[in-house]
Amino acid sequence: MKFIAGNWKMNGSAAALKNMTSALRDVDTKNTVVLCVPFTMLTHDTDGVALGAQDVSAHDHGAYTGEVSAQMLKDAGARYVIVGHSERRQYHDETNDIVRDKAAAAIEAGITPIICVGETMDEKQAGKTMAIIESGVRESVPTDTNGKIVIAYEPRWAIGAGLTPTAAEIAEAHTLIAKTLESMGLAGTPVLYGASVKGSNAAEIMSIPNVDGVLVGGASLKPDDFIPIITSMK
Ligand code: PEP
Repeated sequence: MKFIAGNWKMNGSAAALKNMTSALRDVDTKNTVVLCVPFTMLTHDTDGVALGAQDVSAHDHGAYTGEVSAQMLKDAGARYVIVGHSERRQYHDETNDIVRDKAAAAIEAGITPIICVGETMDEKQAGKTMAIIESGVRESVPTDTNGKIVIAYEPRWAIGAGLTPTAAEIAEAHTLIAKTLESMGLAGTPVLYGASVKGSNAAEIMSIPNVDGVLVGGASLKPDDFIPIITSMK
């Protein structure tokens, strides 16, 4: 069984979500499927499909104009939230410390954070991939996870670019993450791979050791692209 999460980013509409959830209702799969949608599309009416948000405030409540708390997400129907996506790290200067506080707020509210880590092209070219991944995991994961986190390894240079690392590179990264989590007492935490996953490469990627599922951006927007990813693995 694999964990397959879609990240709609700032795309979609209520009608597109209804279209997707009705299509997903008929898919015969044992995989866990989650759609991470913009805040405005969080709804309880999803034909049973689990929803997630794409960001959360680290604060509980108060004078934080424009922010949405974890409890509010839960109230709106979210069961998951992506934290530390590379676009948040890039455009909103989110550091591992900020990501850890957001993940802790989600866990406290009973929402599972999908914590993203991964290296930029500059870091890759400087030979820092493994160090960035390991520090990303050690510093972005809260001390008390209550057994409720998911990690996503997303090589930042490959996201939305149609690029993917080699299977050996993915295996090396996921082995490191699994070992790091084990050393933190978090063995068994699901670790997803994300960046340019599509129907044609999903099965191969999910067969790599220590890859427990995928986080899918562009190919999660349309049922015709997303469903083949879900059904590519039993
Ligand atoms: C993402 O944004 O999390 C992602 C994996 O995007 P894409 O699949 O489009 O590369």
